[in-house]
Amino acid sequence: MTATATALTADDVHFDPNVPGNPAYHFTILPPGSPAQAGWTQRAGLVPDARPATQCVHAGVQPDPAYGAVMPPIYQSSTFAFRDVCTNAGFDYTRSGNPTRAALEDALTILEGGGGATCTSTGMSAILVALNLLPGASHVLCTVDCYGGTFRLLEHARVAYGLEVTYLDLADLDAVARAFRPNTRMVWIESPSNPLLRLTDIAAIATLARARGALTVVDNTFLSPLLQRPLDLGADLVVHSTTKYLNGHSDVVGGAVVAARGQVALAQRIASVNNLLGTSQAPHDCFLVLRGLKTLQVRMRAHEAGAQVVAACLAAHPAIRAVYYPGLASHPQHALARRQQRGFGAMLSFELVDGTRARVEHVLKTLRWFTLAESLGGVESLVAHPASMTHASMTPEARARAGITDSLIRLSIGIEEPDDLIADLARALGSLPPA
Ligand code: PLP
Repeated sequence: MTATATALTADDVHFDPNVPGNPAYHFTILPPGSPAQAGWTQRAGLVPDARPATQCVHAGVQPDPAYGAVMPPIYQSSTFAFRDVCTNAGFDYTRSGNPTRAALEDALTILEGGGGATCTSTGMSAILVALNLLPGASHVLCTVDCYGGTFRLLEHARVAYGLEVTYLDLADLDAVARAFRPNTRMVWIESPSNPLLRLTDIAAIATLARARGALTVVDNTFLSPLLQRPLDLGADLVVHSTTKYLNGHSDVVGGAVVAARGQVALAQRIASVNNLLGTSQAPHDCFLVLRGLKTLQVRMRAHEAGAQVVAACLAAHPAIRAVYYPGLASHPQHALARRQQRGFGAMLSFELVDGTRARVEHVLKTLRWFTLAESLGGVESLVAHPASMTHASMTPEARARAGITDSLIRLSIGIEEPDDLIADLARALGSLPPA
């Protein structure tokens, strides 16, 4: 039988009832801005009490009031129209505020259990904003093995503006108590620290600082609020490089400062310092971090599961002299990690037996799944040489004081199959050149 082709008539065209504009469209169209489904509007109130995985998906995000878009629109506008000189819709200029940034700030406030957050263009600008809260002639106590960029900024402020800075081992609480001066206004904690994964007892330091009128700031980049909530431990401020785990996909740079619940005035000052310095985060970047947050819980679980396997294998390998990972029972502060963290994270560093330059370079160059690159916290595993990369801005003396040797290698464990990662490491370690 042969089919005969016949021309279509108008009657043969079936209008899609889901396409607006077709005569058969079967939904009632509300004007933009009409009230959304009742459940949506109740959700915002529920998020602060929800479990972390639920918070990650829903914090800061409401279906868009204009059209009900499930993901917040990217308000890619530098400026916002006024109705008259005294009336606008809550935003006037994107440096001072933007709806997409506000959504991310709400999300981070909830995840950290804070009273307000401000999002900045990079992690470094978050640190800059926090330091700009200090009055002139202040003194800061800072952990001796902080991120190299933090050290560089503190040193810049010391030389350019006369900021007084003391770097010390914050694990030594007696030394910390002795180091306070009448003008000490801030204690800067990084726990776990970069790259040696040393921990600071946040609650103990916050108690010391509060009694002396100083703010406690914690750089929480290495763990994210899912694995550590410094504000619950008494810190006043949390700082993040959202470039890392919070975004998680190595495709954006960003930062955030979150103030504690009781610090509402401080939260407002942080927002205005961000505005005056011009360090606010761009709307598109905020959107990307918000998208990253939705999978934070599942990513952190996978990162940490991989790190546990890698750390255990490295610790048992004859070519390894030391492994620094708070999740190992042998880590000197493992008990503190258990007490103040909800997990051990996925950053670790290690040193080779006979860690000559040639042997270290062999590992850095031979690995296949670990990309030799700065940064951390993305889904892909990275390897770095802190002395010549992340901490190159420290003087050799400062690195020596911090314990960062030339043979230290840092790993950021991604979410690849852990067996592939350990096979890669075993291959690189098994072919080391002689010492
Ligand atoms: N804080 C820590 C612990 C870091 O590791 C970094 C960067 O690596 C920063 C802050 C700075 O963040 P950013 O690179 O986003 O400016």
